[in-house]
Amino acid sequence: MRIGIIGAGSAGYVCAIRCADLGATVTLFEENKIGGTCLNVGCIPTKALIAGVHAKRIATSSEILGLSASDVKLDLEALQAHKNKVVDLNTKGIGFLLKKRRVMVYDGHAEILSPTEIDVDGDTLEYDKIIIATGSVPAKIPGIDFDGKFIMNSDHALSLTEIPKTMLIVGGGVIGLEFAHIFSSFGSKVTIVEMMDRLLPQDDDICSRAASKFVSKHGIDVILNAKITKLFRDGNDVEAHIEKGGETLVSRFGRSLIATGRTPNLDKKSLMRIGVDFDKGGIKTDSYMQTSVPNVYAIGDCTGGYMLAHVAYGHAKVAAGHATGQKSHPMRYDNIPRVTFVDPEISACGYTAAQLEERGIDVSWHKFMYMASGRAKAEGIKEGQLTIGVDADGRIKSAYIIGEGSGEMLAFFSQAITMETTIENLEQVMVAHPTLAEMAVEIIEVATGFPIHT
Ligand code: FAD
Repeated sequence: MRIGIIGAGSAGYVCAIRCADLGATVTLFEENKIGGTCLNVGCIPTKALIAGVHAKRIATSSEILGLSASDVKLDLEALQAHKNKVVDLNTKGIGFLLKKRRVMVYDGHAEILSPTEIDVDGDTLEYDKIIIATGSVPAKIPGIDFDGKFIMNSDHALSLTEIPKTMLIVGGGVIGLEFAHIFSSFGSKVTIVEMMDRLLPQDDDICSRAASKFVSKHGIDVILNAKITKLFRDGNDVEAHIEKGGETLVSRFGRSLIATGRTPNLDKKSLMRIGVDFDKGGIKTDSYMQTSVPNVYAIGDCTGGYMLAHVAYGHAKVAAGHATGQKSHPMRYDNIPRVTFVDPEISACGYTAAQLEERGIDVSWHKFMYMASGRAKAEGIKEGQLTIGVDADGRIKSAYIIGEGSGEMLAFFSQAITMETTIENLEQVMVAHPTLAEMAVEIIEVATGFPIHT
C-alpha cells in the first residue's frame, strides 16, 4: 500500500509514523518545516515561554514557603534561546522517528492532481491513498494586513526580541490569553479586545469566569463586545479604532497581535478538481476521516472543528488504521481535553453545557475545592476548583479544573469519559498521597455522595 501524506504537522507526521508501522510505504510532503504549527510556532514554543513566566511567578510569590527573592528578572533573550532549542530538539526528534520508519520526506509544495496522484515540483507520484494534513493559518481581519512587527500574528509574536510598553491583543480566546500572559509577565501593559461578551467564548462560562479572574489579577485590560474597525502603523506605534456600543475609541499601542483564531489551509483548486467536499469551515470527513472521495482522507486543522494538536493526533491514528485496512475505531469528540495555559491553568474536558443541552443529557454537578487538598495546602496553593457533570447512569460527561496543574489532572477525566466507566468504578482508583491528582478521586467521592475531605 502506497500512501502520500501532504503536510508534516501534528496530523501528518503522526499519520506517517502510524501508516509506516502498519506496513504502508509512506511519502510525506512538507513545504515548510517538519512539525508544522505545534512544534515550530504553536503549542511547544508558547509553552517554553510560559515555563519562564511560571518560574518567575513561583520565585516572586512564594513568601508563604519562606522564599524571598528580590530583583527577579525574566531575560527575554535567554528564554527565546531556550524556546528555540526546544523547537530544534523536537523537530529533529521527529525527523529521526520518520527516518527510522523509512518514511520518505519530500521537501516541497505538493498538489493533488487526481485521487491517486500528487504533483511535487513538476514530478507526478502515484499513491493508493492520499491523506491531506495541510493544517491552518492565522485568521485575518478584513482590511488589516500583518506587517510582522507592528501588526503581528502568533508566528511573529513568538519571535519578539523586545517587549513593547503597551500591547493590543485582538481576540480573547486561548491564543490571545496565552500571549497576554506572556507579555504582561514581561511588564507590557496588555489590552485585549474581544468581539463577544466574554473571554474564552468558545468554551463554558466557568472557563470565561476563570479567564476574567486571571486578567484582573494580572492587570490586563479587557474590552468586551468590541471590534477593531481600523488598525495601522503610525510612526513607532499602532493606532487602533475600537468600536463598542456604537462609539469608536481611538487608542495607540506599541505593538498589536491579531489572535482571532485560525482558518483551515485549503488548496481549493485541487479539492474541487478531484471532488472533495469542503466549505470555509474545512474539509468534510466521515468519522474515519475519509472525505467524499473514498481513497482521500483529511486530518487535523484542515478539517476545522477542534483545532488542537491532540485532536490532530487522534485523526491521524484513525485515518492511518482505516487507510491501511487495519482495525480502526471511529473518531470521537465527547472526550476532548482543552487547556488554556494561563495562571492558573483553565482546563476542561468532555461536553460543554451547550453540547449537553443539545444532546438532551441531564447531569448533576459536583465540586471539589483545592483548599480541601492536603498537597495543595502544602504547596501554598490557595485557590482552585474541580467541577464534574455526571449523568443519570453515573458516567462523567464534563469536567472542569481551574487551578495549578489542572492540565495534567485532566488526563484522569479524559480517560474516565473515554472508558465510559461509572463513578462507582472510578472511586476504586488509587492515587498516590499526597498529590494534587488525589482531588480527581475526591470529587468522585463527592459525586457518589460519600465525600471524605469535604
Ligand atoms: P499544521 O501543524 O499547521 O501542519 C500543516 C503542515 O502542512 C504545515 O507544516 C504546512 O507547511 C504543510 N503544508 C500545507 N500545505 C502544503 C502543501 N501543499 N505541500 C506541502 N506541505 C504543505 N494545540 C494544542 O493542542 N495545545 C496547545 O497548547 C496549542 N497551542 C497553540 C499555540 C499557538 C500559538 C497556535 C498557533 C496553535 C496552538 N495549538 C495548540 C494548535 C495546534 O498547533 C494545531 O492544532 C496543530 O498544529 C494542527 O496540526 P496540523 O498537522 O493539522 O496542522
